[in-house]
Amino acid sequence: MSSGKGKYAVGFIGIGKMGLQMATRIAAQGYPLHAYDAAEGALKAIGAVSGAHAAKRLADIGRDCEVVILMLPDSAVVKKVLFGDKDGLVAHLKKGAVVIDMSSSIPSVTRELGPRLKAAGVDLIDAPVSGGVKRAVDGSLAIMAGGDVAVIARVKPLLLTMGKAIIETGMLGSGHAMKALNNYVSAAGLLAACEALKVGADFGIAPEKIVAVLNASTGKNNSTENKLMQFIVSGSFKSGFSLGLMKKDINIATDLAKSLGSQTLLGEVLLKSWADAEAKLSGAADHTEIYRMLKN
Ligand code: NAD
Repeated sequence: MSSGKGKYAVGFIGIGKMGLQMATRIAAQGYPLHAYDAAEGALKAIGAVSGAHAAKRLADIGRDCEVVILMLPDSAVVKKVLFGDKDGLVAHLKKGAVVIDMSSSIPSVTRELGPRLKAAGVDLIDAPVSGGVKRAVDGSLAIMAGGDVAVIARVKPLLLTMGKAIIETGMLGSGHAMKALNNYVSAAGLLAACEALKVGADFGIAPEKIVAVLNASTGKNNSTENKLMQFIVSGSFKSGFSLGLMKKDINIATDLAKSLGSQTLLGEVLLKSWADAEAKLSGAADHTEIYRMLKN
């Protein structure tokens, strides 16, 4: 990677709710940024960001960039972008390039992709994030990075434009495993918080009192602090993280547990809860809309 003192060109693929904010921060730090998305609207949005260039084709990203970040819906799309039907990104990348998959992907698929990229002279690390759109905007995402420590060290300054805490989790795929496990815990906390809110309100306690007690007590969690009042009691249901993506993450965590023979008591309940919600409300609904499933 020819970093020298100057900043190397960065490709960013997947300019969605998270990607737009993350890419904007990278461009603001002076990295020449080349972005690509399948959706015209996303390309328009990044094209309007100072220091960012909207690429027309994946091949342009491969030709122009030394490091390419993926922020895509899931492993199936990651695979499609990397290898395509005929003409994926990998065919156009320079030898020595680094691909960072920051999407919430399936760890076993990531582990298969590593050697395939290596055969093309390209390094792959996984560096998924937690914190949502709000923390993507202010650059305080939690980033869990898996893969070769030397490769992670090379791109650490770039990761630090998006996150404050970068936790190296070990082998390739371990960041993706931890991301799914984190969202498993997050989903359990949200469902429990929604149930407490619903039961307390049915009993006649004011919602703000319920949330105040939880946040002053041992029931406090990320959802009681950052989701109940903001997105559920307010009725906005606009956290910026979709129901379908949460279900995907729970699925990855429960599949991981199954593949290892590890027992999860909550797994089936969480999976069924978000799958039922997805069937009823659509995957594009906000993940906090799980609360609506508790309505009488
Ligand atoms: P999103 O749906 O808003 O964005 C995904 C983007 O990928 C879209 O712009 C879409 O057009 C693009 N895309 C889809 N297929 C493509 C293809 N073949 N080629 C190029 N672009 C393609 O999703 P998001 O909420 O930004 O999430 C992105 C990833 O980050 C997911 O893996 C998600 O699980 C994870 N994540 C999301 C959040 C959040 O709060 N939204 C938080 C942490 C992690």
